[in-house]
Amino acid sequence: MEIKDLQKAVDDWANQFEKPYFEPLSMMACLTEEVGEVARVMNNLYGDKKKKGDEEERHLEEELGDLLFSIVCLANSNKISLEDAITKKFEKINKRDINRWEHKTNNK
Ligand SMILES: [Mg+2]
Repeated sequence: MEIKDLQKAVDDWANQFEKPYFEPLSMMACLTEEVGEVARVMNNLYGDKKKKGDEEERHLEEELGDLLFSIVCLANSNKISLEDAITKKFEKINKRDINRWEHKTNNK
């Protein structure tokens, strides 16, 4: 699925409701909650805070999907093209940050 198709799919879903998107600060809170849920899974998997015995197992893929959905909602409600946004990000990392990290050499 291309990014513009993803944004349209989310928008089509949201527009079935009287109020398609939450207010801006509520969306920011939802996005932050999802970041926290990703952090919890990562901490359970790789960090010191392991899952509680009775806690339902959560999967990184699911939480990343939740986070992506929140990002798309925030972009859509602000009429932002995520394709344009990621294009600009690549321009930054391929120009401004081109020598920021050590590149692979051909003999590795
Ligand atoms: Mg979640």
